[in-house]
Amino acid sequence: TELSHIRNFSIVAHIDHGKSTLADRLIQETGTVQDRDMKEQLLDAMDIERERGITIKANTVRLDYKADDGETYILNLIDTPGHVDFAYEVSRSMRAVEGSLLVVDSTQGVEAQTLANVYQAIDADHDIVPVFNKIDLPASDVSRVAEQVEDVIGIDASGAIAVSAKTGQGIHEVLESIVAHLPAPKGERDAPLKAMLVDSWYDAYLGVIVLVRIMDGVLKKGERIKMMSNGSVHHVDRIGVFRPQMQPVDELGPGEIGFLTASIKQVRDTRVGDTITHEKKGCETPLPGFKPAQPVVFCGLFPVDSAEFEDLRDAIEKLALNDASFSYEMETSAALGFGFRCGFLGLLHLEVIRDRIEREYNIELITTAPSVVYHIYMKDGTMQELHNPADMPDLTYVDHLEEPRIKATILVPDEYLGDVLKLCQDRRGLQEDLSYAGPRAMVVYDLPLNEVVFDFYDRLKSVTKGYASFDYQMMGYRQDNLVKMQILVNDEPVDALSVMVHRDRAELRGRAMVEKLKDLIPRHMFKIPIQAAIGGKVIARETLSALRKDVTAKCYGGDATRKRKLLEKQKAGKKKMRQFGKVEIPQEAFISALKMD
Ligand code: GDP
Ligand code: MG
Repeated sequence: TELSHIRNFSIVAHIDHGKSTLADRLIQETGTVQDRDMKEQLLDAMDIERERGITIKANTVRLDYKADDGETYILNLIDTPGHVDFAYEVSRSMRAVEGSLLVVDSTQGVEAQTLANVYQAIDADHDIVPVFNKIDLPASDVSRVAEQVEDVIGIDASGAIAVSAKTGQGIHEVLESIVAHLPAPKGERDAPLKAMLVDSWYDAYLGVIVLVRIMDGVLKKGERIKMMSNGSVHHVDRIGVFRPQMQPVDELGPGEIGFLTASIKQVRDTRVGDTITHEKKGCETPLPGFKPAQPVVFCGLFPVDSAEFEDLRDAIEKLALNDASFSYEMETSAALGFGFRCGFLGLLHLEVIRDRIEREYNIELITTAPSVVYHIYMKDGTMQELHNPADMPDLTYVDHLEEPRIKATILVPDEYLGDVLKLCQDRRGLQEDLSYAGPRAMVVYDLPLNEVVFDFYDRLKSVTKGYASFDYQMMGYRQDNLVKMQILVNDEPVDALSVMVHRDRAELRGRAMVEKLKDLIPRHMFKIPIQAAIGGKVIARETLSALRKDVTAKCYGGDATRKRKLLEKQKAGKKKMRQFGKVEIPQEAFISALKMD
C-alpha cells in the first residue's frame, strides 16, 4: 500500500467518555465486521474489562475505508488503555501512530485523564482531531466543551466533530476527517527493516504475538529477525493484521501496523519499545529507547487455604507469561505461611490480577497491605530497595529512607474544592498549583505515592460525590521521616500488617488500625491485647475483651432457628479466618485495617 493511503491513529479520552463505543462504530461503518457479528465493545476482549468497562491491553484494528474522494484508505486504530495505572502503555502505543482522535463527552467536558492522555499525544507530535461525543443526550453542550478544549488544553477546536457513538450520528464525518486531517506515515521501502515492538501478549495456540509498527523496510513471513536490545534471533512463522480477528498478509511495509509470531515462548522475551530488524543486512541504529514498565506497588498474595499454594504458583506463573509488567517472588510469612510478593503498575492492575486468580483459577486469596518501593540508604553507603515493610533492616545500619512522590492533577467542581484540599493536606501533599478550567478548579499536588496507593481514589470520589477526576505521574524519590509500624495481636507481631508510615502520623495511623482491628477480630475465650508499635515502643493499644462462656445461650435464649443461624454464620466465617498463635483473624482485616476513614 502507498504511504499516502495509510492513516494510523489512536483514540484518547477520559474513562467512560465513549472511546470503545466510538471504535465499535468506526469498525461497523467501514464494514470491517458484518453487522450480525457485531457485539458491543469488540476491542475490550477480556471478561474483566467488559465487566468494569475498562480497556486494559492496547488493541488494534485495521479498517479499509472508501472515502468520499473515491480512494480506499487503510486506517489503523490502536485503542489505548484509559486508566492511570496503564499510562506507560498509552505512551508507547502513541509512538506507533501519527494522529489522535480526542474524545470528550459533551455532557461532561474535559477531565483529568483527558488532559493526561492528550498531553501524551501532544508529546508524541500527533495531529489531533477533537470529537465531542454523546450529542444525543439532552445535557450535551458542544460549544462549552469546545471552549474548554481551547482554553484548558490549548488546541484548536474549530475542526471538532460532534457525534453520537451510540446512534452513529457524525461517524462518517469522523472517518473523512481522519483521512483529511491526520498525516500519512513516512518511511522508506528500500531501507533496511526497522520496526517498533509496540506490544506483545501470550496466546495459548500461537505463543507470543508481537504487535509491530514498520518504520522502514519490509517484513515477510519466513524471514529471520533480530531484537536489537539483546541480539536474539527468531524465525517469523506468521505475519498479519487485525480486522479485528487475525488475518494473514504477504508482507508488512512501511507505515503499516500488524503482528508477527515467531515461536516465542514468553512475553518476557519481547521488550516493548525494542527495535526489530532483519538478522542479515539489518539497520544500524535502533529507535530511541523505551524503558520497560516498572512495578510501583507491591503486596503479598497468600492462599486462604494453605493447601492451594501450588495452585497459586501455577496461576501466577501463567498470568506472568502474559504480563511482563507483573512481577512476583516467593514469600514466607510467619503469619500467613507460603505465598508470593507481587509487584504491580498500580492498584487497578493489582485488583485485576487478584480478581483473575480468584475467578479464573478459583483460589481464595489473602491480600496484604499494598506498599510502594522505598529506597533505603545504609550507613555503609549502599542503597537497597524495600518492597515489603516486613524486610525493613535493623535501624542501626540505616542512614535514611526515601519514598516515591507523584504529581497529582485533580479537577473538581468548586463546591468540593475545600474537601479536596483537606484530603491532599491530610495525605502530606504539597500544593503546587490551583487554577480554573471553566467552572471547575484544577489543583496540582506533590504527594507521597504511599498515601495514594491505598484508598486515596476512593476517598476522593466519596468527598466529591464522584465529581472529581484524578490523574498522576511519578516524580522520583525524596527523603522523609519514615518508620516501620508493627501490629501485635495477643503480643505476637503480625508481619502481614506491618506498614511504613511517616513518623508524625504514626500515632494517628496506629490508633486507627488498632481500633479497626478490635472491631474486625471476633472475641475469643480470653482477653486479646491489640497494639501498634514502632521499634519496641507501643504507640497505641486496645483490648478485646473475652467472650462469655456460651454466646448462643446468652444472646438468644431458646430461639432454636436463630441459634442455628448464628452457628452457621460462624462456620462460614471460619473458612476465611487465619490462625495467628491462639488468635483467629478474618481475611478482610488485612485490608480493612489499613483504610483511613
Ligand atoms: P470508554 O471508557 O471511553 O471506552 O467508554 P465506553 O465506550 O465504554 O462508553 C461509556 C458509556 O457511555 C457506555 O455505557 C456507553 O454505552 C455510553 N456511550 C458511549 N457513547 C455514547 C453516546 O454517544 N451516547 C450515549 N447516550 N451514550 C454513549
Ligand atoms: Mg473502553
